[in-house]
Amino acid sequence: MATDPNKFQAIISHCKEYGFIFPSSEIYDGLQAVYDYGQWGSELKKNIKDYWWKNMVQLHENIVGIDAAIFMHPTIWKASGHVDNFNDPMIDNKDSKKRYRVDHLIEAKAEEMRNEGREDEANGLLDELDKLIAKDDFDGLKQLIINQGIKCPVSKTSNWTDIRQFNLMFSTQVGSVSDEASEIYLRPETAQGIFVNFLNVQKTGRLKIPFGIAQIGKAFRNEIVARQFIFRMREFEQMEMQYFIRPGSQKEWYEFWKEERMKWHISLGIPKEKYRFHDHVKLAHYADAACDIEYKFPIGFKEVEGIHSRTDFDLKNHQEYSKKKMQYFDSEINQNYIPYVIETSIGLDRTILMVLSEAYIEEDLSTAEKQDSRVLLRFPAKIAPMKLAVLPLVKKDGLPEIARKIMDDCKSHFRCFYEEKDTIGKRYRRMDAIGTPFCVTVDQQTKQDNTVTIRYRDSMEQERIPADKVTEIVLKEINT
Ligand code: ATP
Repeated sequence: MATDPNKFQAIISHCKEYGFIFPSSEIYDGLQAVYDYGQWGSELKKNIKDYWWKNMVQLHENIVGIDAAIFMHPTIWKASGHVDNFNDPMIDNKDSKKRYRVDHLIEAKAEEMRNEGREDEANGLLDELDKLIAKDDFDGLKQLIINQGIKCPVSKTSNWTDIRQFNLMFSTQVGSVSDEASEIYLRPETAQGIFVNFLNVQKTGRLKIPFGIAQIGKAFRNEIVARQFIFRMREFEQMEMQYFIRPGSQKEWYEFWKEERMKWHISLGIPKEKYRFHDHVKLAHYADAACDIEYKFPIGFKEVEGIHSRTDFDLKNHQEYSKKKMQYFDSEINQNYIPYVIETSIGLDRTILMVLSEAYIEEDLSTAEKQDSRVLLRFPAKIAPMKLAVLPLVKKDGLPEIARKIMDDCKSHFRCFYEEKDTIGKRYRRMDAIGTPFCVTVDQQTKQDNTVTIRYRDSMEQERIPADKVTEIVLKEINT
């Protein structure tokens, strides 16, 4: 699989230079695997959240949304299995003292083989990895690392410890006096906030199965290897939906949601070939079927979303631990049961990285006369952070006043940007770099016939349109 680390680095630099994403606490040299979204990054993030929410909640009459707290009763994480099972096998290098996730080390080796054209060997290695992980065979995994001559990227030695499990949850204390305080966890997934509110929502909403509960919110995982920009963070956001169904119907709904979610991904303007499904060999402790939707990032095909058939695992365990009934009465078949659940769980930050990877283009515009290039972010208009730039050609002759009036008409409808400084060419390029799909320019002709030029980011074509049509044209484009 060809990867493009240069493109990945270029995206990271672009995000910082143009106000999308900054390393957290940068003036204190940063905090590993934590990032802050800047002025355009936070707009993009909000638009993607809204687009997901609209698709999942607004367009599905039987799905409602909630917003549960990050702190939850600690027993929830016992019931959900996270205290006992939310582990990754890790190995330490004794020379560098660095710790690695075993699957990541082996996957990196497979990637290296692929880059050398040893595709079959790479596939064989990954199959072997899947088999050993499925059996929790740590001795076998360590042997595989040794047999493959895998070395620590820092010390360059193979002086490895044995493999151990490492829990990924962060914990903290609640309560002001330390001996009265109790330990609680920062949620590692948003799903449990939905499970524990299942009956509250079902009863108050008078919802009938099948129905779904959606939520967007922060999750926290103490990831060990966290150096792929916003792909793997310690604090990140998830957009999850739990769909409650009759036991026995899970296969059908699992297929339904696989298809629905893939349609959503393609509706982001990303071609089908850039996605693939990856079925899980080793199922998580709660699942009877699971797959990932993977996108072809510049660093290779990687998971963006998980679709899991979670059975009645969570509700049943919450019933057992809380001693509260989690049953639903199905009046159509006159039966009480604990519903089964299909979950769709997508990482918001990974979706942002996917959208950025797809949108980032370096274009060579050189002609025989001069060298030229531009960097643009080809976001679909519906998720672009800034929809329109309003630019007076010059800072005089009454043009800024006309441009200001257009700006005032548009800004209550969508996000727009006003700028009068620098040449028009430079201003266009700055808008290309943050992915603004439309620029309108007010010039001398505007004063005569009240028309402006609209410039399209991707084609760089320009056309004259009536100034009073700007809002309508842009609204039409962002609503498609
Ligand atoms: P991975 O195998 O990459 O660690 P996962 O299978 O543990 O991911 P899930 O528990 O299924 O992930 O979480 C659902 C989604 O949340 C993932 O598909 C991903 O988009 C996102 N996600 C999970 N962990 C992180 C993280 N550390 N940083 C950013 N996004 C994450």
